Amino acid sequence: MKVVHGPVSGIRSGRLDRGINTQSYCYRFGNALIDTGPPAGWRTVRTFAEAEHARQPIEQIVLTHHHEDHAGNASRLQDLLGCPVYAPPESLQRLREGYPQPLYRRVVWGTQPPVTARPLPETIDIGSGERLRVIPAPGHADDMVCLHDPSRGWLFSADLYLTRRPHYLRFDEDLPALIRSLRALQAYALHTVFCGHAGVVTMGGQALKSKLHYLVALSARAQAMRAHGQSVDAIRTALLGREGLLYYVTTGDFSKQHLIEAALQVELGVHEPVFPEAE
Ligand SMILES: [Zn+2]
Repeated sequence: MKVVHGPVSGIRSGRLDRGINTQSYCYRFGNALIDTGPPAGWRTVRTFAEAEHARQPIEQIVLTHHHEDHAGNASRLQDLLGCPVYAPPESLQRLREGYPQPLYRRVVWGTQPPVTARPLPETIDIGSGERLRVIPAPGHADDMVCLHDPSRGWLFSADLYLTRRPHYLRFDEDLPALIRSLRALQAYALHTVFCGHAGVVTMGGQALKSKLHYLVALSARAQAMRAHGQSVDAIRTALLGREGLLYYVTTGDFSKQHLIEAALQVELGVHEPVFPEAE
């Protein structure tokens, strides 16, 4: 599925067209292609990239993090377009040498060919005097960055947003870091968010704030229940319910239990408000 929002165009690709988590977006803005979709979506991404490149040359590929649904076609696109790939410095070794990938991810997304990328600078020149600011946003992945267009208040958010109310946490995700990143992003003007899976989110700044409030409130409630002697199991059942289908499909990688265990580790401010989003 193709999306167009002003000067940005994007394509969603992947193996299954069922829900947001089996397909992912890459976006074209100025002379840059931001993320590259999963290996399983290569044919769709190639058609999109060839058409975009014919319309206006793509001069650089920018990766937000090393995950295969974002970096999966970087090597092929580098060959196709003949342009450099940039990635966060912390991603470079994993992109070049590979990294352990759970089986379900290989099945859903495909296997990622290695790619040699250059380290991302602090700002990216996308042509016509326009620049994107690179903002580190660890949590979902330790190397993840978001790209901010300060003149429009746009954010290419990679996997920072995804949904307002996550019920699962993956084992390679760091909830306290995610909350710190969401808090840090509040300092920027944020209007439209270009999410790696949810697509174009208008009122995206509000959506990110809503996710932050939900996670803080969930953590506060989990910690209050723990202080009253409740078990992690009981807290999970009360706040999130039993593990769902996603837990079994991903052999336990998407876990409600893990989200609650992580919520118990979040450092909350003394006067941390409890927001209605948690109700
Ligand atoms: Zn990711």
